[in-house]
Parts: sequence; C-alpha cells; structure tokens
Amino acid sequence: MKENTVNSRDLEKALAEATRNKEQLEQRIVSLHNIHAALSSGAWNLLYDKEGNLVAVNWSDTLRQMLGFSSTEDFPNTFETWSDRLHPEDKENALGEYESVLADKTGRKVYDVEYRLMSKSGEYHWFRSTGYLSRRADGSPQSFDGIFINHDERHTIDEKLQRTLKEAQDVRDELLLDHEIISAVSKLYFSIYRIDLEKDFYEEISSDRSVHRLTGHEGKAQKKMYELCDSIVSEKYREAVRHFFNLSTVAERLRNTDTVEMEYLSTDGNWHQARFIEKKRNEDGRVTHILYVTRIVSQEKQKELEKQRLEVAYKVAESANEAKTTFLLNMSHDIRTPMNAIIGYSQLMRKKLTDPDLIHYQEMIEESGNILLSIINNVLDMARIESGKMELDENYDAVGSIVSKICQVYQEEAEKKGIHIIYQENIPNLHVLCDITKIEEIFTNLISNSIKYTLSGGRIDVSIEEVPCEKKGYVAIKTTVRDTGIGMSKDFIPRIFEPFERERNTTAGKVAGTGLGLPIVKKLVELMEGTIEVESELGKGSKFTVIIPHKLVDSKLYEKNEPAPAGDFRRVFEGKQILLAEDNDLNAEIATVILEDMGFVVDRAEDGIICVNKMEQQKAGTYDIILMDIQMPNMDGYKATQMIRQLPDSKKASIPIVAMTANAFEEDRKRAFEMGMNGHIAKPIDIENIRSTLAPLLTTQKR
Ligand code: ADP
Repeated sequence: MKENTVNSRDLEKALAEATRNKEQLEQRIVSLHNIHAALSSGAWNLLYDKEGNLVAVNWSDTLRQMLGFSSTEDFPNTFETWSDRLHPEDKENALGEYESVLADKTGRKVYDVEYRLMSKSGEYHWFRSTGYLSRRADGSPQSFDGIFINHDERHTIDEKLQRTLKEAQDVRDELLLDHEIISAVSKLYFSIYRIDLEKDFYEEISSDRSVHRLTGHEGKAQKKMYELCDSIVSEKYREAVRHFFNLSTVAERLRNTDTVEMEYLSTDGNWHQARFIEKKRNEDGRVTHILYVTRIVSQEKQKELEKQRLEVAYKVAESANEAKTTFLLNMSHDIRTPMNAIIGYSQLMRKKLTDPDLIHYQEMIEESGNILLSIINNVLDMARIESGKMELDENYDAVGSIVSKICQVYQEEAEKKGIHIIYQENIPNLHVLCDITKIEEIFTNLISNSIKYTLSGGRIDVSIEEVPCEKKGYVAIKTTVRDTGIGMSKDFIPRIFEPFERERNTTAGKVAGTGLGLPIVKKLVELMEGTIEVESELGKGSKFTVIIPHKLVDSKLYEKNEPAPAGDFRRVFEGKQILLAEDNDLNAEIATVILEDMGFVVDRAEDGIICVNKMEQQKAGTYDIILMDIQMPNMDGYKATQMIRQLPDSKKASIPIVAMTANAFEEDRKRAFEMGMNGHIAKPIDIENIRSTLAPLLTTQKR
C-alpha cells in the first residue's frame, strides 16, 4: 500500500511536472511563434540518420504563412518543396552552401544565404536563411536547424539605394558634361550668368575666363546688371547698354526669338558682345529664365569696322567715279557744241578764202580743232569704259577690209612724213560679225601711233592672218602693226596700257598725246574677248599683236546697208524742206548755213514743243525731213519724236527724223532708233556725214 501510495504520489508529482513542462513548452512555442511573426521569420529543421541520409524535414507554419501557404498539404514537409521554389539565379548558391555545410567536418561553417523563393501566388520574395548543423559524436550530421527571415524590405531599400546611387552617378556625369560645356562655352564667353527673371535673381556660372560651375556669386539680378554696365561699358555706350540690360523688358524682347545681343566698347578698349539667351519659358511661352553671356569681339568688330570703312570708301570712290563720268559725259555735250562751231565755221570759211596765208591759218585751226576733238573723244571713251557703259554693237563686215581702209586713210599722212606703210592680208574673204567702229578705233590708234613714233624714212608693216581658234563658229584674226620707230624702254613697256602713261611728255617728245590711246585699245580688245601684246626695243621699233575672235556668218543672211547715193547729192537735196529743231543759236546758224549750202530750205524750231507745233500746224508734206537735236529745253528730241509719231495724220507721223546730237555714243545712237528716229548724226556735224545720212532717207521717201 505504502509503495502504491508512494508510487501514486510520485506519479502525481511527475504528472504535475509534465503538465508544467508541457505548459512551459507550449508557452515557448507560442512565444517562438510570436518572435517569428514579429521578425517576419520562420523556422526549419532537417534530420539525418547515422548514414547521413536526410530522414525528416520540418517547415514551420510561420514559414509557410510567409509564402502564402496554410497547411502541410499545400507546402509539404519535403526538401524539394523548398528547393523547387528557389529563384533560378539563386538556386546554385543556396544548394551549394547547404552541401558545403554538410561537408564541413569542423562544424564551424554556418549556413547563411540570401535567396528568392516563389510564393504561392507566383511572386518571388527575398529571404535570409541562417542554420546550424549539429552532429553526432561520430561526426555524422544529426539535425540542421535554422531560421528564415523575410528580406524584401531590405532589398527594396537596397534597390532604392542602388537607384539613388545610379541617379547620383547620372547627375554627376551630367554635371561633368555641364562643366565641360560650361568650360567650352567659357572659352568663348568670359562671363556667364544664370538669371531668374521672375525672382530677379542671378548666379554667376563663370567669369574672367576661369571656369567654375558656380562661382558662388549671386544676388539681385537687375542691380548686378546695372553695376556691370557702369563698371565695364565705356561712357559713350553706357546709355544704350543700360537700356539693353533692363531685365524688365527682356522677356518681351525674347518673345519671338531665343537670343538678343548688343555690341559695345568696354572701358578697357575692347569690343564686347553681350547676349541674353532664353533658358526656360512658362506655359504661356513667356521667358522666365535666361543666360547672360559676354564675349570679346574686338577682332570681329575690327574686321567689321574695316569692312564698313572700306564700303564707305568704296562708295565714296564709286560716287566720285560716277560724278567724274557724269561730268565728262556732260562735258561731251558742252565741249562738242562750241567745237561744232569752230570746225564748222572754219570749214565754211575755207570756201571763201583765197589768200594763201589765210588758207594756212584756216588749215591750222581745222587741224587743231580735229586734234582737240580726238583728245576729247579719247577722254570720253575712257570715262565710258570705266563706267561700264561701253557695249559692243556688232555688224556684218568682211574682216580685213576695215584695217586695209585705215591703212589707205593713213597712207597720205605717212608718205608726207616719209614713212612707208606696207599692208599684207593673208586671209580668205571671211565674213564675220564685229563692232566695226571699235575695230577701226583699235587700229587707227595703233597705226597712227606708229606714224607718230616713227621717224622719216621708217617703215610700218601691217599684216592680217587667221590663227587657230578654240571657239566653235568663230575665227581668230591676228593683226600685227610693226614699225621701225623710236621704240620703248624695257621699263616703260609694263606701264604702256595704264591710263595717262607716256614715255615722253608732249614738251619733251614734241609729240602731242594724252596717254589714253593704248588703254582704250586694250579695253576695247578685252571687250571683244581678244588679246594684245607688245614687243619693243628702244631705237629699233615696236610691234603690236592683236588677236580677236569673230563670229563667222553667212554673208547671204546679211545685207549691207545701201550705200549713200554717190554723185549728185545736190539733185536729191535741192529745194527739200528741212525742219531743224535746235535750241542753240550758234549751232542752228552753222547747221543752217551748211544745210542751205547743200540745197535745203531750212526752217528752225527752237525746242521740241515748237517743233511738234509746227508739224501739227503745217500741211502734211510741208517738211521733207526733220533734223532733231536731243537736249533741248521744254521738250527734248526723244519726246518730240514720240509725239510726232503719234500724230493722227499718218503722213506727218511717218516723216523721217534724224537725231543730231552731241551725245555721240553708241547707246545714244541706239536710243535714237528705239525712239522712232531714222538716223543719227553726231556733232560736230561733218558735211560728209550729213550727206550720207540724209540722202538715202530722202531718195526712198514716197511723196
Ligand atoms: P599717246 O600716244 O597719246 O601718248 P598712247 O596711249 O597711244 O598715248 O601711247 C602711250 C605711250 O606709249 C606713248 O606716249 C608712247 O610713249 C608709247 N608708244 C605707243 N605706241 C608707240 C610706238 N608705236 N612706238 C613707240 N612708242 C609708242
């Protein structure tokens, strides 16, 4: 009994202890559970037999819950339940570490791995798993126990940290780039400011060529701008720059553009360019932030000023040149008019003279008059060439005939001086287009120079030949004028085509001239796209070689102007009524004498209006022809011609009208024809010229 009593007491004691133990154990399990819940962790346990085989696996419920599972059916207690859910990228490491802990006989190696496990819903979560392997006395693994903590948050923080670091790196790179850009820009602009227009705030980005991202200088923008203006802008520009620096108007000025700029002279004598550049606009498109940059532009400015100076100088020179040309062209008219009287009256006087002395005087007057006229013509030609007014007026002719005619004309003068002219032509009778007047001028100059600069007993050889020509449909004609004259020094030859250059002046050389002949020749040759060369030796003679390309033409396509009726002009002119429109009394008188001498009946009109009135008032057929001056007061000759051409009476309207003008240039002649005139006579009037111009018009006229 006693034994039983003891036993039963012992049993009660043991039971009570067991119950307490169980309660304690349950409490510990609960608190362990709580700890796991608080730590977001779970526990695991693996058991091995003596051979090292895994015989049992336990995943705690908290571990299951963390992955979204609720029971052992969902998440069975097998090794694969765990290993199959490992992230492919983490699997090798997680299993490798497990194996290496198993293999580590020292017992020091702890399992501590981070990996991702797939939850029930298929998402991966980060976990840190830590475990300790206990071994039996023989070293075989017995129990592997560990915990498993959710690390999602840390990883999110890590990722955030990584992202922030990356962003920081990007910002750093950007800043570096910014810095590089600013460095580069700073090389151009010695001062850069960032300005917030709305806050009236500035930050200095770089200054004085030293490169900083920010110099640390900042403050009130407008105040700073005005300070800059007062300290660096020279007095003369200060007012204008102050205006430019007014920040309250910058946004408006940048409304339709992204930059505005201004140049000014700084106090150190350099030219600066200040510039506002748009940086940011608000939603309304109004500029709110700008950059202000300044750079030195002295060199550019210098160049620009130089250019401006040159332009002004060029304009001055050009207008001076124009003034000179206008002056000379006007002189053409003003000098030719009295020259007309001198030569004309002297020609008229000749007929009445019998005294040989007086005849000699008359000849001298006429010759001097002609020389003066040729000098005037040269000066005028040069002026026209320089003003670019010279144009080609091409006409059909047989090349060669022009030069041979000139030789004939000069033959007499040369013979008088004891000089022989030998003309040689070695070309087929080529028909070409050429400006006959200008060709005549070229060779008249060359041949007359040879006569002028060759002494008695000398010889002049003129030869013409065809040379190869590159231009299709053209023929190149080479003309040489060679003399055995005084020649020229080597020093002078390079200057020979310069205007007004003469080797000897008139007094020293006793030969009259202007030094304009050859420059004109050269310009004319160039106008015709030809070349001229000179060879000369002092005391031996000179040789001028001219090559000019001419367009070949079919002679049948061109009909020569009818030659003036030869012979008895008087029969054609006798009794014909001529209306002479001429405002200048002297010119009118001389023309009247010449015309009456030819047989005309002359009626004079003092200006264009009177001329038109006379035509209107007189019966048709009263006048046979009109000689019309161009420059007249009240109404000029062109206008009068146009009015006559518009008269209702067709007979009156078609009367031949010949321009008679001191404007002796090609374009004047052309203009006369354009205005409806039938001919053109240049003053001073030449009797031969009047005859040959008027005769065809009167013979073809139907009455
Ligand atoms: P000008 O004969 O009116 O002086 P040019 O322009 O025709 O003007 O000629 C310029 C200068 O060239 C002449 O003054 C003369 O010194 C020289 N010269 C021209 N032609 C000849 C020539 N055939 N022989 C020698 N010198 C010449």
